[in-house]
Amino acid sequence: MKAFISVDMEGMPYIVVLSHLNLKGTLYSEARKIATKVTLTAAEELNKHGFDEIVVADSHGPMVNLLVDDLPEYVEIVRGYPRPLSMVAGIEDCKAALFLGYHAKFGTMKSTFDHTYSGRAVNKVEVNGIEASEFLLNAYVAGDLNVPIMLVAGEAQLLKDDVKRYAPWAETLALKDSFSRMSAKSRSMVRIEKELREAVKKAVKKFNHGTVKPLKVKKPVKIGVSFLASHFADAAELLPMVKRVDGLKVEYTAKSMVEAYRIFELFVLASSGVYAIIESLQ
Ligand SMILES: [Zn+2]
Repeated sequence: MKAFISVDMEGMPYIVVLSHLNLKGTLYSEARKIATKVTLTAAEELNKHGFDEIVVADSHGPMVNLLVDDLPEYVEIVRGYPRPLSMVAGIEDCKAALFLGYHAKFGTMKSTFDHTYSGRAVNKVEVNGIEASEFLLNAYVAGDLNVPIMLVAGEAQLLKDDVKRYAPWAETLALKDSFSRMSAKSRSMVRIEKELREAVKKAVKKFNHGTVKPLKVKKPVKIGVSFLASHFADAAELLPMVKRVDGLKVEYTAKSMVEAYRIFELFVLASSGVYAIIESLQ
């Protein structure tokens, strides 16, 4: 039986400053050790409870954050970006999923690194009128592929706002409680490790009892994306299926969540291109 783990970094414990998050940051090596420890703890516990294969999608930034030296035999890792299905690449044939290190959507008060996919370009993403965090977007994609999310561990506000509301069957574990966008309190790694093992055990039990469900979206899926600057909307609008709503917002309709997500991923890539052009002209 195969499980899937998507790993982001902003919701990992102790990670509070930008130099934790960038490949060249002075605290980046600390952050990757933390993320690797949390991920391998969850994977080990899954393996103890019946999952003999685990696909880990390294899903922050350039998506090459996790240390691969000590991967156990039962783990396969998806690294690198761009890639189809981005943060949930490799989920297709898995029975259940865990999201680790996840964080709240852009605009959330006192929540470390609140953002939605691209802190530089995206203000808001709406799925059928519901404002979505990365958790919700990825959970809907997983749901489209019939994979339930059985556990989410990350920043406390995300768990309260989105996970408990839209996927109440998922086990949750707060890895940090934020004081501000760049400050948070976390328990010791020894304690987090114990609690995470306990949460994984409970999640697997629920999964085995059939009480975790894939999150389904109503189709066709109507997506609204509001950008942080109009030049990003100018680029998104180039796709013929996309309607420009106002200076910052575009809308489109997709036949599935997978299709909706792929188009949104293209927006994020186009926005990076626009940003690179602007930077190069300064
Ligand atoms: Zn991230």
